Amino acid sequence: MTNGLKLIIATSNKDKVREIGEILKDTPFKAVSMHEEGLDPDIVEDGKTFEENALIKARAVHALAQDCYVMADDSGLCIDALDGAPGIYSARFCGEDSTYPEKFAKIFEMLRYVPEEKRTAKFVCSIAVVRPDGTDFTVRGEVCGVLHEMPAGDGGFGYDPIFYVPEFGMTTAQMTKEQKNSISHRGKALRAMADKLKAEL
Ligand code: IMP
Repeated sequence: MTNGLKLIIATSNKDKVREIGEILKDTPFKAVSMHEEGLDPDIVEDGKTFEENALIKARAVHALAQDCYVMADDSGLCIDALDGAPGIYSARFCGEDSTYPEKFAKIFEMLRYVPEEKRTAKFVCSIAVVRPDGTDFTVRGEVCGVLHEMPAGDGGFGYDPIFYVPEFGMTTAQMTKEQKNSISHRGKALRAMADKLKAEL
C-alpha cells in the first residue's frame, strides 16, 4: 500500500534505513535515507537527552527538506549504578577511538564495588519525527537487562555482548535479529513511531 509518502531518515546507516522500511511496510510511508535525497547537513549533537539529540538531527535535515516528514533516532546504554552513564555518550565512552572490549573493561572497573544484583541497565532509544509543517513528536523505547562481565555472543553490535536479558536467558548478542527486534529499545520505539504515523493520516 506504499504510495510514496516520503519519510527521510536522518542517518547514513543503510541497515537502519532498511530496518525502518520493513517496519513501515504496511503504512503509506516510504523510508529513504538523507543521502538518497542528497542531504548531508553538519549536525552538532549537543543535546542533554536522547530526545533532544534526536530532535536536533531531525530538525537539521528538515531545514533542508521542509515539505517532507523527517525522522532521527538516538540511543544508548544507561547503567543504573552509574547514574545513567554512559547514556548519550555511549558511542564516545572511553574516547572516540576506544574498542568495545576497552569500554567493557572500563565499565566493570567502575562497577567493581557494585554487587551483581545491582548491575542493572537499560538500552534506550528515542525517535523524533518532524512533520512537513514543522511540528514534531518523539517516542521512546527501552529494554531492561543486567550487565554480565563475561561478554557472550557475536550478533548485534556495541554493548550487546554484555547486555543480558534474564527473560531470554541470553545477551542481546546471542539473540537472533528477530528476537532482539521483538524486545529491543529500537524495535519498540520504531513500532510506536509507525503506530503514531499511521494514526495521524
Ligand atoms: P545510536 O544513537 O543508535 O548511533 O547509538 C549510539 C551508541 O549506543 C552505539 O554506538 C552503541 O554504543 C550504543 N547502542 C545503541 N543501541 C545499541 C544496541 O542495540 N546494542 C548495543 N549497543 C547499542
